[in-house]
Amino acid sequence: MSCRKICIDPGHSGPSEPGAYAGGVSEAEVNLLITKRLGTVLADCGYEVIYTREGDIEDDALSWRAELANEQQADLFISIHCNAAENTLAQGFEIYHYPNSVLGKQVAENIHRAFNLAPYTSDRGIKKAEFTVLSETVMPAILVECAFLTSADDRKILTDPAGQAMISLIIAIGIHKYFLPKLISD
Ligand SMILES: [Zn+2]
Repeated sequence: MSCRKICIDPGHSGPSEPGAYAGGVSEAEVNLLITKRLGTVLADCGYEVIYTREGDIEDDALSWRAELANEQQADLFISIHCNAAENTLAQGFEIYHYPNSVLGKQVAENIHRAFNLAPYTSDRGIKKAEFTVLSETVMPAILVECAFLTSADDRKILTDPAGQAMISLIIAIGIHKYFLPKLISD
């Protein structure tokens, strides 16, 4: 089995740029916890895992995250985020890929299928966006909004270690199913 390199990008930076904030929890810290669990699962499945950050950093730019993945020649880039809305009833899981990325769409579809095996919140589906981390990466790239930090129900899952583990397993199964046919044909 050839080793595939996956770059995981926990969205936002830390106290200086926390992303969404609700219920005393910042998106930056939740993103990091899910990223570390996902990285552990993927490494255990035999993938080489690299991270754009492994702790809090002082930063509010985005391009370097894509550049790092490009320089490291990652085979897949995945950005981990939590959603937020003024309406605290808004909840759900969604996945973004770059509009014309055929492979990015494939990754998103595989993760979406894995989510539907264990839907822990509403399904908001697969969406397209020209986010910097999706447009400036040269490999297939996706951005996952795991759930809404502003929803009390979603936040409970996002901040629970068991919930974080479930989210990580869902994403890892989707990634593995995306790579599987490619690994078999190698
Ligand atoms: Zn975010």
